[in-house]
Amino acid sequence: MTETLQLRERLNSVRAGINAAAAAAGRDSSSITLVVVTKFHPAPLVRELHDLGVRDFGENRHQEAQAKSTALSDLDLTWHFVGQLQSKKARQAAAYARVIHSLDRNSVIDALSSDERHTDVFVQVNLAEGTGRGGVAEADVETIADRILSTPGLNLLGVMAVAPLGETPRRAFARLRAASERVIRIAPKARFISAGMSGDYPEAILEGATHLRIGSAITGNRQPDG
Ligand SMILES: *Cc1c(COP(=O)(O)O)cnc(C)c1O
Repeated sequence: MTETLQLRERLNSVRAGINAAAAAAGRDSSSITLVVVTKFHPAPLVRELHDLGVRDFGENRHQEAQAKSTALSDLDLTWHFVGQLQSKKARQAAAYARVIHSLDRNSVIDALSSDERHTDVFVQVNLAEGTGRGGVAEADVETIADRILSTPGLNLLGVMAVAPLGETPRRAFARLRAASERVIRIAPKARFISAGMSGDYPEAILEGATHLRIGSAITGNRQPDG
């Protein structure tokens, strides 16, 4: 029970933080979607968060996400896939994930092509060029957006990124916003920005983030072996 209380407190505190940052940015917090990232946490924790009103959940590993979505299929919720995705697993992930935040390669785009299913997607942008993290180079964002736009079954929502080390999050998110503006020029409806984690979501909100991916600030410490 005390664990549930702590969970509720952390969730409330993040929600208050979102409201404060939105107010500081002159934005309406109802335009911001909180995706709670539950990786490494078991299905019952997702259920508790659902009881507390959360409806959007993020996962970054296919097998774990698939197992949780099966275990929780009685709940009305939306799964967001936020991790690196191989083309072999892409179709399987799209079976439970309504939104894929981490699209960054042609092979996965082609694997997701479908005449029956619709998947909402973000292009992941690598704001730390030269390192091995996922995402396309800032210069390639429009090219990959174009390919998504011409792929049946994919609905481009916008751009996504993780703030890199070695730069203030605000500056990095400002570059993401610039990439977003370039995408909007070719796809006016793709105006959403997935950015902001436990340590930097206020800065992301100041730079226009519409989808926050927040894990540990809400779930507490995860158990990497669990
Ligand atoms: C784990 C993860 C998050 C959440 O990170 P926290 O620091 O726990 O809030 C957000 N985005 C991605 C892509 C992640 O893998």
